[in-house]
Amino acid sequence: MHIGFIGLGRMGWLMAANLAKAGVPLTVWNRSRSKSVALVEHYPEVHIAEDPAQIAQDCDLVFTMIADDEAARAVYFGQESGLIAPLNRRAKAWVEMSTISPALSLEIASLAASHNVIYVDAPVSGSLNAAEAGELVFMVGTSAGLSPEIHTSLALMGKSVCQMGEAGSGHAAKLLINSVIHSQNQIVGEILALAASCNIDRAALMTLLGDSAAGSPMIRFRTPLYLGENDEVTFALSLAKKDMQLAQDLADSRGHRFAQISTNLDQLKSAEAVGFGEKDMAAIAQFIAGSQLGNQ
Ligand code: NAP
Repeated sequence: MHIGFIGLGRMGWLMAANLAKAGVPLTVWNRSRSKSVALVEHYPEVHIAEDPAQIAQDCDLVFTMIADDEAARAVYFGQESGLIAPLNRRAKAWVEMSTISPALSLEIASLAASHNVIYVDAPVSGSLNAAEAGELVFMVGTSAGLSPEIHTSLALMGKSVCQMGEAGSGHAAKLLINSVIHSQNQIVGEILALAASCNIDRAALMTLLGDSAAGSPMIRFRTPLYLGENDEVTFALSLAKKDMQLAQDLADSRGHRFAQISTNLDQLKSAEAVGFGEKDMAAIAQFIAGSQLGNQ
């Protein structure tokens, strides 16, 4: 069983590394070749594909982990070098793990079916440290069930698999979970701004929050980032905005209007508009603090 992996961004690189570490035959492709080269430096037995099409031709099982719908369309639908056109050559199954829209996921599912390829949507929950430790949570949507090969590979990258329903339901569930994550992100920004004006020690407040019933792994993981102790980017604010736009689109498509989803999206759009897009999503705290001082 030869595995193909497309997308070696912050998450994908760590996930592919876990497959390589376990010794599975692996071929990778990433738009910026330097990230593939860096993986091969760590794991010399990994191959680098020339383009996504080569992954479909050379691999039995394909994993994809890229930024968003636009990137997915560029990588999967290209006539010459895209993943889908030669999908009927060798690939038997495709596991799509990016956070993309459920609508695009269904479009891909039907194209995969027309090539007799099993399609599974399996976006992930968890931060970079969970990815590195192989402790991600997968939200799976599939009409076909999971083969033992897919199960084994997911187990090398994650600690649990939650079956959500038919194809597309994994991607929909991911947007619901991330709506909670991004709500937490913004309320943490708000209480840090309020704490500053109440003369409450911000570091003590974050320790309290982490230990309290309101604490979450996301909040504990990001505490140094909220406190400005480092400026590492673990999940770009622009990707958080993408998630909330997709959540809003999903709600719209079902005829709903939810206040919190709309507010969170508006805040992220405002933060991105004034230059916070490439910072970690925790920088929403800086944006909120600045807006209270009238800086934004
Ligand atoms: P990232 O570091 O920004 O990586 C994005 C990946 O997409 C890179 O491989 C990038 O290639 C590729 N890409 C972007 N635009 C492209 C295009 N037009 N054509 C081809 N490739 C393109 O993002 P990430 O944090 O790893 O996130 C990846 C996915 O996982 C996203 O859907 C995100 O929402 C989801 N996710 C992330 C986290 C997290 O904590 N970071 C957690 C859960 C889920 P280059 O290397 O060439 O730029």
